[in-house]
Amino acid sequence: MQNKIKIVISACLLGKTVRYDGGHKFDRHLAATLGQYAEWVPVCPEVGAGFSVPREAMQLVRETLPPRLVTIESRQNRTEEFMRWIEKKIPQLEQEKICGFIFKARSPSCGVHDTPLYSTTGEVVGAGSGLFAEAVKRRFSSLPIEDEERLRDSSIREIFLERALHSSGTKT
Ligand code: SF4
Repeated sequence: MQNKIKIVISACLLGKTVRYDGGHKFDRHLAATLGQYAEWVPVCPEVGAGFSVPREAMQLVRETLPPRLVTIESRQNRTEEFMRWIEKKIPQLEQEKICGFIFKARSPSCGVHDTPLYSTTGEVVGAGSGLFAEAVKRRFSSLPIEDEERLRDSSIREIFLERALHSSGTKT
């Protein structure tokens, strides 16, 4: 069997209890399909940035660009500490032979393209990327980056795997 390829994955998708409510979002489908090829590199950006488990849920508020990461009830702006962690994490990932990224859909940190963006008064005004996913997309634009929901589609999954394997081949 060929060597496994390093795939960064939202830690909650592997069953790690890192979500704001103390739970996880283990994805059996991913484990059953891509698990055989992947050496998972689990990352939870919110825990990495020092946020507790459990913690208050957050949302992205788009009154400025980039959007701000704000707690839903107490309206605390956590953007600065979160961005500081991202600035440290991206160079660490550059040192590893990462071949792709799989992120949790719709998360304000991890969502790839469908994270709801809110106004300051709480209305949904659009959709975009979570703050960590956005930074990853900018820095690792040649690598496949998908969420777990899109990867349920076999053709999207095949393309993801093909690109990840190709990337692995060019680096070894
Ligand atoms: Fe952590 Fe991302 Fe999962 Fe949220 S979606 S719990 S930030 S890994």
